Amino acid sequence: MPTIFARIIRREIPAHIVYEDDLVIAFLDISQATKGHTLVVSKVEYQNIFEVPEKTASHLFGVATRLAKAIQKAFGASALNILSNNGELAGQTVFHFHLHLIPRYERQDDNLFKLKNNQGNLTSDEYKERARLIKEALS
Ligand code: AMP
Repeated sequence: MPTIFARIIRREIPAHIVYEDDLVIAFLDISQATKGHTLVVSKVEYQNIFEVPEKTASHLFGVATRLAKAIQKAFGASALNILSNNGELAGQTVFHFHLHLIPRYERQDDNLFKLKNNQGNLTSDEYKERARLIKEALS
């Protein structure tokens, strides 16, 4: 079954599209977590970042950069979060790769995201081992 975003791409359901090219499309997130909250979506229905080819991802990020600046200009946002949920455990609800661009305006938006800080619970060796495992997986 096509994702809701694939249906937007095919114009089967409406959306407020702000950008489109051969590889990506961007439209307003229906939730508008903040004013101008925009999604940048790959046209191919990759489920998440684990499936996206690097070339598509880098193009998508380039478009996101352009859009971030446009959103800042359009609404006078003083800051902006880029968020991507990948996998159900990470909070993904639409399984079609996308970035959220979430402009920020006020301190009261602060509790949109709160990351846990585990710095005090980790030894230097644990950091080293985590970095080693990632570097090993890259090669
Ligand atoms: P995520 O939870 O990271 O997968 O994000 C999915 C996002 O898609 C949510 O923020 C939804 O508000 C948004 N969304 C779902 N349906 C639509 C739609 N028809 N048009 C625009 N955004 C949508």
